[in-house]
Amino acid sequence: MIQWTYAPSRLPPAKVQRRVVQWRKACQADVAPDRPVISFTFDDFPKSALNGADIVEKHGGRAGFYACTSFIGQRSPVMGEMFDGATLAELRARGHEIGAHTHTHLDCARARLGAVERDIGENLVALSETGHDETVSAFAFPYGETTYSAKRWVGEVFVTGRGILPGVNIGECDRSQLRAVELGGTAMHRRRALAALKTAIDAKAWLFFFTHDVGRTPTNYGAPADLLEELAQRAAESGAVLAAPTFGAVLSGVMD
Ligand SMILES: [Zn+2]
Repeated sequence: MIQWTYAPSRLPPAKVQRRVVQWRKACQADVAPDRPVISFTFDDFPKSALNGADIVEKHGGRAGFYACTSFIGQRSPVMGEMFDGATLAELRARGHEIGAHTHTHLDCARARLGAVERDIGENLVALSETGHDETVSAFAFPYGETTYSAKRWVGEVFVTGRGILPGVNIGECDRSQLRAVELGGTAMHRRRALAALKTAIDAKAWLFFFTHDVGRTPTNYGAPADLLEELAQRAAESGAVLAAPTFGAVLSGVMD
């Protein structure tokens, strides 16, 4: 049974643990791109995220799609129709990157390391069973939730692990918990996204945006197409590279 509406703990012990984990870098990396790098990413992911691929491509870039494989071919009551094998093949043919996102949308802060490893292993096997035979080198933690040991392991298996702590990535970063700014439908989301983009352009940083569905009337988990359009256009005009996560890691000097 898929849990479509699970939410991580908001109790004080979980908050404290989250803070400790965020400051403990598991895989230190020096992020120093020559040009700002903007990575648009889509989690889980609903088929409407392809609208995001269209927009990023229109501005000369490619994006990242983190696939939670227990969602394949399912219909989410919150985000609509989810990706399937054909979606992955199309994205790959168009030059976008498919990343891992666990098989069961696991809260990696609440699971033992062995369970995290098994779930991600299952995720990778399920991806290859859909015909996706490329090496998967990008990962995003569901809910952004993780532990130090999970970050260590993810850093060994993947080039990048993306979290959901807001901010840009520049200088000494944890490549297994890269920061990311959420895109959504409110004025606050737009304000924060534009501010982060300006910071990234000024500092020549690596900025991740993340969302789920994309459309004219997105769900509470998604982003309006016109916000993506505005951000992608501004980023491209500023000379930033709109790069999928692993290419972003190359451009940022995190991976050669
Ligand atoms: Zn997710």
